[in-house]
Amino acid sequence: MKKKVTVVGSFIVDLMARTPHLPNPGETVKGLSFKMGPGGKGSNQAIAAKRANCDVTFISKVGSDEFGEMALNTFKSEGLDTKYIFKDDALETGTALIMVDDTTSQNEIVVTSGACDNITKENLELCKEAIVNSDILLTQLEINRDAIESTIKLAHENNSLVILNPAPVQEISEDTLRLVDIITPNEVEASILTGCEVVTVEDAKIAATKLQDKGIKDVVITLGKQGVYVKSGKEDKFIESYKVDAIDTTGAGDAFNGGFVTALSEGKDIFEACRFGNALAALSVTKIGTAPSMPQREEIEVLMN
Ligand code: ADP
Repeated sequence: MKKKVTVVGSFIVDLMARTPHLPNPGETVKGLSFKMGPGGKGSNQAIAAKRANCDVTFISKVGSDEFGEMALNTFKSEGLDTKYIFKDDALETGTALIMVDDTTSQNEIVVTSGACDNITKENLELCKEAIVNSDILLTQLEINRDAIESTIKLAHENNSLVILNPAPVQEISEDTLRLVDIITPNEVEASILTGCEVVTVEDAKIAATKLQDKGIKDVVITLGKQGVYVKSGKEDKFIESYKVDAIDTTGAGDAFNGGFVTALSEGKDIFEACRFGNALAALSVTKIGTAPSMPQREEIEVLMN
């Protein structure tokens, strides 16, 4: 039987303009194109999991504004329950203003987390039942810290498996890290969390041991197009990525986490779950966008077989 998964995290609208060059302070540049779409690490991961057929509940918060409506419509069309998408009366829905240099692909991004940075104790009380009743919690670091810490504590006390995707990277208390069963940083996040530069699989091995020393049982370090390095207890493996023609790798980490949690919820072991996460992420990088680029279950199975 499939295990129940709860994702607690952000919803942020991506507002992306491509430009001939990034503007200097005070400069207005005539952009080339504009695209708007649903984003936020929590939402992307929940959508990736849902499309992969996971029994997933998403907990987040949006503003009482048009972008908040857009979020609810997105979740409904994905078949995600909106019962635990709270509304903030004062704060706006989160936004990311993204400017991409059309020639160099360099970008400048301003994120205002808005409502999803204000998940209150009262909100958490209302969704306690969902967290307590789920077998796996997946969360990131894109919402307010107290909400992340309380959620992890609650899930741990209820014997749920706690997965932390430490993105965007920031310091995490030792007390919280000790309650995490699996941590899933990318190379940059693993480097910052351990102080060791992570580029190769050998580097990842050293970083994983350092993270385990902090009390985390299992470590999964995503290494971009190389694949993932996994250390589960004393056992470790490097799992190569699927070779695809990548056109947009934004959201690859979210795709991986959504796939990884889905496979774990189906009883697959951590190494098999990484293979599934790799497949989902590989398919996502062949399309433009974050949430819209997440594949359906059938596509993942075709790639893996
Ligand atoms: P993030 O998006 O957080 O920076 P990564 O770049 O490490 O995360 O990518 C996450 C996962 O996505 C990788 O472990 C891999 O499975 C997959 N992936 C990323 N880039 C590619 C690529 N060019 N080709 C195939 N798979 C990729």
